[in-house]
Amino acid sequence: MVNKIIKLYLPTINVTSSKTVSEAEQISKLRASQSPIAISVQRCPTWSSLDPLQFRGYWDNSANGTLLNTGQTAYFTFESSARPRLSGGPLIGEYIFEQMHFHWSVDDFTGCEHVLDGHGYAAECHLVHYNTKYQSLEAAVAHPDGLAVVGFLLEVVDAPNPSFDEFVEGLEKIKKRDQTCEVSSESLAWMDREDLSNGNYVTYKGSLTTPPYTECVTWIIYEKPVHIGSEQLGLLRQLEGPDSIPIERNVRPTQRHPPGHSVIYVKQVKAKL
Ligand SMILES: [Zn+2]
Repeated sequence: MVNKIIKLYLPTINVTSSKTVSEAEQISKLRASQSPIAISVQRCPTWSSLDPLQFRGYWDNSANGTLLNTGQTAYFTFESSARPRLSGGPLIGEYIFEQMHFHWSVDDFTGCEHVLDGHGYAAECHLVHYNTKYQSLEAAVAHPDGLAVVGFLLEVVDAPNPSFDEFVEGLEKIKKRDQTCEVSSESLAWMDREDLSNGNYVTYKGSLTTPPYTECVTWIIYEKPVHIGSEQLGLLRQLEGPDSIPIERNVRPTQRHPPGHSVIYVKQVKAKL
């Protein structure tokens, strides 16, 4: 075990695709921690030979999605017959998209759960997936390789980001708790395809950030924040929880890393065409 951890810090040079598989395996065997955590990106070992992450059926999905105000967050799902799939990167096998939700706070700097190099942001978005080798999200939670969550940090800027238009139109219709509305896959347009396949990210083994805090998650957090207009973000803050009071804060504080816990910084290398 000790040898394995030390190996992670060695530079990876001239790796073949068979080596890539074992790198994902090495990540799968890392010690888990509670999430979220504060990450010093510069201190992370850098790996650049993992397979690119593959997002299939997110934007190119003709199925309808549903946006719901759960009273705790804004919650997006696709029809169960048309769920997107995630693979590659640190993941072994394929993961099925279950839901997307958001965390935020009352100001522009404490709304994210993960903190990279000390920077706080206004919000954080999580795309939750479960491993296809399990029957459901509920079954997958019981396993260390059960879930893969992709996280995006949202940075507030003055001007609206037009790629959030469809999503925020939906938010306007779900201000009250338990309200739902139908949205198309266009509401995911703010997830820039180029950034997703070429952008660098950090990955580690962690937990759910809501009860029961199970350590079943391979986290993938993109380094580059996504810009969202100040007014657009304000619509998240207007969502009402119980008693018709706006949800002020739905962020879990950062947790301590256990000894020997590793976070890997992954540089995605642009695929040669
Ligand atoms: Zn979350």
